[in-house]
Amino acid sequence: MTAPAAKKRLLTGDRPTGPLHLGHLVGTLHNRVAMQDDHDCWLIVADLHSLTTRSRREQIGELPELVHEVVLDLLSVGIDPERSTIYLQSGVPAVYDLAILLQMLIPVNRLRLIPTIQDMARNAGLNDDEVPLGLLGYPVLQAADILMARAEVVPVGGDNEAHVAIAVELAEHFNDLYGPVFPIPQAMVSSTPTLPGVDVIPDGSQRKMSKSAGNSIRLKDSADEVAQKIRTLKGPGGDATPEAVESSPLFAFVDAFVGDKALASALKYDYLRGKVRDEAVHEAVTADLEALLAPIRARRAELKADPGRIEEIVVDGTIRAREVAYQTLNKVRDAMGLESLWNGLVETTQRRAEARKRPY
Ligand code: ATP
Ligand code: MG
Repeated sequence: MTAPAAKKRLLTGDRPTGPLHLGHLVGTLHNRVAMQDDHDCWLIVADLHSLTTRSRREQIGELPELVHEVVLDLLSVGIDPERSTIYLQSGVPAVYDLAILLQMLIPVNRLRLIPTIQDMARNAGLNDDEVPLGLLGYPVLQAADILMARAEVVPVGGDNEAHVAIAVELAEHFNDLYGPVFPIPQAMVSSTPTLPGVDVIPDGSQRKMSKSAGNSIRLKDSADEVAQKIRTLKGPGGDATPEAVESSPLFAFVDAFVGDKALASALKYDYLRGKVRDEAVHEAVTADLEALLAPIRARRAELKADPGRIEEIVVDGTIRAREVAYQTLNKVRDAMGLESLWNGLVETTQRRAEARKRPY
């Protein structure tokens, strides 16, 4: 009998910068949940990545609560800790070592071209002179996470595709230089790669929904908060063109959340003819959102009744991740010749010690 094929490893994750939102749900969480059965899922709580824009002492002090909230959100949407490894990035130091080695293989100007770096700097209120090296190197650290786990599939939102491209380039370049160590990862982008934000801040819907931008509908928001936030979205108006309807943030929510596709088409058709206005669209979106979010809220409440469980899940997952990380780091050091460099020094030193013990 042949052994069953090993499951492909999947790795993705979130920065613990705030509670997860609807953009996460449609951009990556649904894919993660759907792939749990036939993939070996690894979910990283990327606290080192949060340090790229939140490194002050009091911000680090908020991490225990933020990590707890992100993992609570993951479990609430249906991630099963029995089938998925959930781990804390800073608890796996071998990843920092790997990131340093990967940094040698990518030009700085390649990283400067990545638009998300500028976005993250803006959300954190940093001007060009204040962007830390760590933020520029964000995609390299992300590549280290992916390659450390030897992951093959990476379900991400649209903004993160450019980061996975860096991981692919680094894996290919490394393998060319030193031999085939890394599987080449592949990004998986959902049908809603970039959900816009809501207008709870000025022009919030002109940018992607982000934890750090303050324009999000959080998975833990109450039904009233969700309805109120949806009402901030303005449609393209009475004499809109079909293109304006298709590209408007309001109808992006219709596409993402109105489950009945015939109803979604009818809303667009009637909107163009002035038969339907923003209020009716808000109602349709809010009704389907409520159906989606109510069970998530209920699971969240159940999980809250078991204090300490979340932390236990993260500790178990991090211990597992550490083992794999050291195995990968050893392969990398071997392939690059760093292991034999060290071993050579040790052997020479041992030989010298032996020789000195010999009598004259
Ligand atoms: P931050 O503002 O701190 O960067 P974020 O809201 O952008 O937070 P991340 O933790 O950076 O969230 O991203 C986690 C994952 O969710 C990534 O794969 C990212 O591409 C995806 N994602 C984030 N926002 C959206 C969105 N608005 N639409 C679709 N996917 C998204
Ligand atoms: Mg982000």
